[in-house]
Amino acid sequence: MLKKLFFNWKMNPASLSEASSLFTEFISLAQSQPQISLVVLPPYVYLSELNQQLQTFEATNLKLGAQDLARYSAGAYTGQISGQMLKNMGCQYVLIGHSETREAYQLSHEQINQKLLQSLESGLVPILCVGHQSDKTITEINYPELSEQVTTALQNLPPEFKTEFYLAYEPVWAIGTGKTATNPIIEEVSQFLKQELAKLGLAKQVGILYGGSVDDGSIQELVKLQQVDGFLIGGASLKPEKFKTIAQVVANQV
Ligand code: PEP
Repeated sequence: MLKKLFFNWKMNPASLSEASSLFTEFISLAQSQPQISLVVLPPYVYLSELNQQLQTFEATNLKLGAQDLARYSAGAYTGQISGQMLKNMGCQYVLIGHSETREAYQLSHEQINQKLLQSLESGLVPILCVGHQSDKTITEINYPELSEQVTTALQNLPPEFKTEFYLAYEPVWAIGTGKTATNPIIEEVSQFLKQELAKLGLAKQVGILYGGSVDDGSIQELVKLQQVDGFLIGGASLKPEKFKTIAQVVANQV
């Protein structure tokens, strides 16, 4: 599978002009590295403008996604953004259950499942984030918790569900901390996640991602991972010199 890089801008930057110039860097990256696939996940408020910017440059290996979506399709849900709205705004991907979102909204497994079903109904490719909340150390892996996160999120899928989707393994202690999981642990967890997906009959269309302090330094080791199809990148997605190095290192492996 083509290595894919997902860039989560989180709640950054502060203005549209900054968002637009940051996105220009992604457009030039996409043009210079046509062999890798890039997805930028900006805050909702910049999507429309960035989508227009994207149309002008026609970089086909660069797509837009959102950082979350509502659990419902429409109606009296103040402050929420539906999957259909995102799709109409030019989004093709959506993050679901990022640990920061789970924590901020105290999302239950059922609510994550509702968001996932909404993404499919709207034609958005979901990037389901899973990661153990309870583990305190780099070597402990809470397999029952990971299994529960995967199986509860993927309940009640439409029988014809055959589209592409991504499962991002993001150990909570690695997000924004500068600490990454080791390659043997990521390979072991990825293998486990694939087995869980196979039990649900979903092994074929899934891409496994790793996220958690992927930057221009850690990518040198992480790029050697065999079981992983791409990376979810937070902090480094705001720094052109860092995300360009990440992309270059990944492109050299393709
Ligand atoms: C993330 O936001 O999903 C993430 C992995 O952040 P960071 O790369 O900053 O750890």
